[in-house]
Amino acid sequence: MKKLAILGSTGSIGTQTLEVVRENLDLSVTALAAGSNIRLLEEQIREFKPKYAAVWEEEKARELALAIKDTDTKVVSGMDGLIEISELEEVNIVVTAVVGMIGIRPTVAAIKAGKDIALANKETLVTAGHIIMPLAKEYGVKILPVDSEHSAIFQSLNGENPKEISKILLTASGGPFRGRKLKDLEKVTLEDALKHPNWAMGKKITIDSSTLVNKGLEVIEAKWLFDVKMEQIQVVVQPQSIIHSMVEYVDGSIIAQLGLPDMKLPIQYALFYPERRTMPGERLDFAKLGSITFENPDIETFKGLCLAYEAGSIGESMPTVFNAANEKAISLFLGKRIKYLDIADIIETCMREHKIVKNPTVDQIIEIEKSIYELIESRC
Ligand code: NDP
Ligand code: MG
Repeated sequence: MKKLAILGSTGSIGTQTLEVVRENLDLSVTALAAGSNIRLLEEQIREFKPKYAAVWEEEKARELALAIKDTDTKVVSGMDGLIEISELEEVNIVVTAVVGMIGIRPTVAAIKAGKDIALANKETLVTAGHIIMPLAKEYGVKILPVDSEHSAIFQSLNGENPKEISKILLTASGGPFRGRKLKDLEKVTLEDALKHPNWAMGKKITIDSSTLVNKGLEVIEAKWLFDVKMEQIQVVVQPQSIIHSMVEYVDGSIIAQLGLPDMKLPIQYALFYPERRTMPGERLDFAKLGSITFENPDIETFKGLCLAYEAGSIGESMPTVFNAANEKAISLFLGKRIKYLDIADIIETCMREHKIVKNPTVDQIIEIEKSIYELIESRC
C-alpha cells in the first residue's frame, strides 16, 4: 500500500490525484491539505478517511474541525500544518499540488523526512531548484514530475544516458491567444484569458498558459529536473497538445511521449514509477486526429517567455523575481485591478530593478517574494 499526502487536494491536480487513488486500491490517503475550500475538503475527508487534514486559514481550520468532529481526522493549520503532514512517518509520497511558492517549505521538509515527491508545484523548482535538487540527492529521494511536459521528458529518458541528451523539445499548445498580436491583446478580459483550448486547470496556471509564462516556468523547471542548460531547451508550439514533449539525443534521434491530454496519466505515472498501470479512457486515434502541426512561439507578442529565459540564464535570485512578480500580477489581474498586458510589463520592471542575491536561501527567497509583492502593491 502506498500512502500519500496531497498538498492542494481541492485543486485541479489534487482532485485528479484523488481520481487516480479511487481507481487504484493499493493507494491510500494519509493526509490532505487545502487553502480555504473546507466544503470540498470535508467531502474528501469523509470519502478517503485521512489521518490528517491541513487548512491554511486558521478560522477555516476551526470550522472544519467542528464539522468533522464525528471522524478520526485531525485538523492542523497554517505553514506548521503543511509541514507536519509532509513529514508524517507513514507517508511514502508527498504530492505537491499547491499553487505558488507556498510549496517550498513543505517540499524541503518532505525531502528531509525521506519522502518521494510527486511534483506538480513548478513554482517551487523555479525559485528553489538549486536547493531542492541537491537536497533530494543528499536524502536519496525521487522528484517525480507531474507536469505533463516534464513527465513526457522523464518518460523519453527511460533507459537512456542523460549525458547523451542534445536538447529538450518542450511542447506548448500556444494557449488561447496563439496567432494574436499585441494590439489584439490590449482588450483581453479575465474571462477570455480563463479559456484554455485543451486543458482544464486552476485559474493561475490557465492565465500563465495564455501569456506563455507557464512555458517559461516549465523551461526553468526542466533545467533543474534534467540538469540541462537553458540553451538546450527549445519551446515548440504544437497546438493539438498530443506530443507532450521530446528529447533529442546526440545522434539526432528524437524520442517523444504522446497521448490524449489528460493529467491523470502523468499523475499515475509519477505515483507508480517505474511501473505502468492500466488506465481506463479514450485512446489516441491518429487517423481521426489527421495531423499534428508545429510552429515557433511568438516571443515578441508573448514576452513573458523571453523574460523567463533571461531569468533562468541569470539564475541566482532572478527566477524568484520573475515568479513572484508574475504571481502578484496574476492576482491583481484576477481581481481586475490591472490589464492583461500589464502582467508581462510588471514582471519586466521588477526584473530590471532587482539587485541579484547570489545562491539565495529559502528565507531569502521568501523575503524577496515579499518585497516584490510589496513593490508591486505600492505602485498599483
Ligand atoms: P488550483 O488552483 O486548481 O489548486 C490549488 C490547490 O492548492 C487548491 O487545493 C488550493 O486550496 C490549494 N492551496 C492554495 N493555497 C494554499 C495554501 N496556502 N495552503 C494549502 N493549500 C493551498 O491549481 P492547479 O491544481 O491547477 O495547480 C497546482 C500546481 O500544479 C501549480 O503549481 C501548477 O502550476 C501545477 N500544474 C498544474 C497543472 C494542471 O493541469 N492544473 C498541470 C501542470 C502543473 P483551495 O481550493 O482551498 O484554495
Ligand atoms: Mg505543463
